[in-house]
Amino acid sequence: MKSPVTDYLEDLLTSTRDENSGELAAYIPELAKADPNKFAIALTTVDGRSYAVGDVDHEFSLQSISKPFAYALALADRGLSHVISKVGVEPSGEAFNELSVEEGTQRPDNPMINVGAIAIHSMLVSDSAGQQERIDHLLDFLSRLAGRQLHIDQSVFESEKETAQRNLAMAHMLKSFGLFEAEAHEVVEGYIAQCAIKVNVQDLSIMGATFANGGVQPITGEQTVDSIVARQVLSVMVSAGMYDGSGTWFAQVGIPAKSGVSGGVLGVLPSQLGIGVFSPRLDEKGNSVRSIEVFKQLSAQMGLHMMNAE
Ligand code: GLN
Repeated sequence: MKSPVTDYLEDLLTSTRDENSGELAAYIPELAKADPNKFAIALTTVDGRSYAVGDVDHEFSLQSISKPFAYALALADRGLSHVISKVGVEPSGEAFNELSVEEGTQRPDNPMINVGAIAIHSMLVSDSAGQQERIDHLLDFLSRLAGRQLHIDQSVFESEKETAQRNLAMAHMLKSFGLFEAEAHEVVEGYIAQCAIKVNVQDLSIMGATFANGGVQPITGEQTVDSIVARQVLSVMVSAGMYDGSGTWFAQVGIPAKSGVSGGVLGVLPSQLGIGVFSPRLDEKGNSVRSIEVFKQLSAQMGLHMMNAE
């Protein structure tokens, strides 16, 4: 028997499907080949109930949605004070691929923009870890969050490697500041592999529910990270998860979130829900247009805005 939640989510798909504005991410050739009509929504509660509608089996690369997860793993591997000494937690107010760092400290502003995420990737495991070790460690962690073995989309990985000049420039800048020891191109390759990890919307909602649940994966029961780490990650998602659209997003939707240029959006409502939405057309900031519409309606209709007074 279908649950009323699934019926509600199907209505939501129908009422937002007409939103056809936006463009596919063209700067990564493989992403420009995506089917723009793919559309899916999933919710997972902190007690492990999952609901998914639309193209639920369709897999897409995480892209920037990998950033909060990699941040969590760096915090778990290296500790808060080490990570904070290298990457800040302030919104940058700039595009996700801006080549910029904080004045004075030379730290990237936050882990959700590319320059910060590249620095975070370099910190995984330890300073002396190799490229493959960092990737394997992250893939294992993300698989534990999802509760199933995840894989890297090789064609997306190869495609982004061909067009990585901007990310390479950022890595060389960070290396010149002494932020990491490893070779800049190895860190960027690892970061690109991180972005190419494939999920479906249900995986995304389960991974989000793990953070909503203080780091405890709601289906396997594993404590994947400390609750303090989960809280730190969600806090940064509030101020920087939707890039320079984060303030407007939080005022309108009120759910900590992270977007990626393949069209996914992850939402995490502490103590309640993980939400995954996928639709590939993006606005000028690189956020999925339809996914934003889904979140707006979901938040308004279900009263999910975190700043609502009871
Ligand atoms: N891999 C992409 C990049 O580095 C991720 C960007 C994104 O999803 N906003 O450009």
